[in-house]
Amino acid sequence: MSALHNALFHDQLIVAVLASGSRGNCTYIGDGRSGVLVDCGISTRQILSRMAQIGLADAPISAVVVTHEHSDHVAAARVLDDRILQKSGNRIPFYMTRGTAQRLSDRVMPKRVERVEPGRHFQIGSLTIEPTAVPHDGVDPVAYAVSSGGARAGVITDLGRSTRLVEAKLASLDVAVVEFNHDVELLMDGPYPWQLKQRIRSPHGHLSNEQAAEMLERAVSVGRLKEVVLAHLSEENNRPERALLAADQAVVRARRHDVRLHCGKQAETLAPIKADVPLDRVQKPAPLPRRQRRRESRPEPRAETPVPVSPVQMSLFG
Ligand SMILES: [Zn+2]
Ligand SMILES: [Zn+2]
Repeated sequence: MSALHNALFHDQLIVAVLASGSRGNCTYIGDGRSGVLVDCGISTRQILSRMAQIGLADAPISAVVVTHEHSDHVAAARVLDDRILQKSGNRIPFYMTRGTAQRLSDRVMPKRVERVEPGRHFQIGSLTIEPTAVPHDGVDPVAYAVSSGGARAGVITDLGRSTRLVEAKLASLDVAVVEFNHDVELLMDGPYPWQLKQRIRSPHGHLSNEQAAEMLERAVSVGRLKEVVLAHLSEENNRPERALLAADQAVVRARRHDVRLHCGKQAETLAPIKADVPLDRVQKPAPLPRRQRRRESRPEPRAETPVPVSPVQMSLFG
């Protein structure tokens, strides 16, 4: 493992949105010991080169967790499977629901498929993975939360409406990748055929900026969310400025000026985001035996002064 790699993870959970949008989605989540790709909807070459660009060339890919069968989420599965086998000598598992597996064509079907069930968590190395059902026009689509050492991250995209379950999951995360698919005005005035517009707007389609912002507002009002990546933006029917404005207004309404907003991109990868574990969730080490305690009771060096957090920071361009 390289020094850069060590410095990047530092035993923390990191989230890197490698690509996000209607033409392909892929997010890396890992803690340095284990890592998963959530979806693989861009080419294998793009996945690996984008990981390398942000210092994740040596980051472990222990598995791929697939949300649903649409090609912008699974297109690379078959090729990626073989490429990782070549690179590491291991055939990694691809996790997906039964419905998703049934709908994959032979062209994209990976060799080693493991079943997941919404509501049933499972372990991939040091990571706990929680699939949650979402309303979308796939056969059996899910969102995923990934946790390690008290830190929690998740990818919640491709859903036509919010549900209580989804909101509870969102509120439980430190870092969330959340769908802000379209701006209703741009969609309705845009060139898509009427039927497609209706499909996108349906309860099994995609979240509009407005719907996503309402969901986000409720989640940040009660939850611990600190970093939010607006994701799966339609290039045709949305603009990053519009999505960011809707999300910004939502966190302001929730009086959560500490929440940082980022915007996922189709053509480039975002810098990795670390999921900090709040102090109240840091696991305290077991008390030392008395004699050792006395020896170690010298004053601790002062912790680094925290950097003051400015009002909602938007990283539209990086
Ligand atoms: Zn999609
Ligand atoms: Zn989809």
